[in-house]
Amino acid sequence: MEKTLVLLKPSCIERNLIGEVIGRIERKGLIIRGMKMIQLDEKILREHYAHLVDKPFFPALCASMMATPVVAMCLAGVDVVRVFREMTGATNGRKAAPGTIRGDLSMSGSLNIIHASDTPENAEIEIARFFRPEEVFDYTPANLKAVYEHDEI
Ligand code: UDP
Ligand code: MG
Repeated sequence: MEKTLVLLKPSCIERNLIGEVIGRIERKGLIIRGMKMIQLDEKILREHYAHLVDKPFFPALCASMMATPVVAMCLAGVDVVRVFREMTGATNGRKAAPGTIRGDLSMSGSLNIIHASDTPENAEIEIARFFRPEEVFDYTPANLKAVYEHDEI
């Protein structure tokens, strides 16, 4: 089953929204395969946000991502990368659609609560960046048959 990498950013932790976001993940029927709290540093952020290191806002982005630990999650589901990006919403919380995590919980273009992998290829790279292999658990939740029709998984 496809996997994606999610980070609950310091803006999520500082606003006491961890439970709100994890509740949405659970209610949707996504499988939590890995979850831990980590303090990010500039080295890992320069890898994770390599596409943004030359942007003028990069130092502020780094500072905001190091303000508290983050909660890193590995989620699984059918088409989970696309499904969870759609649940995440547009980058800027003021433009993200209502009903999305950012659209409902954020008013900022940088303090936008959550990171989610954008492609299955990047998801594999990002999971390996934040989790050791033994920290990602391969188990079958008892309710899987209630989440998917038998021919969907
Ligand atoms: N970001 C920012 N200003 C911008 C664009 C992005 O502070 O103009 C931050 C924001 O926190 C965003 C992250 O950089 O989530 C990564 O940017 P990306 O374009 O990859 O957006 P995402 O994939 O998170 O929607
Ligand atoms: Mg991105």
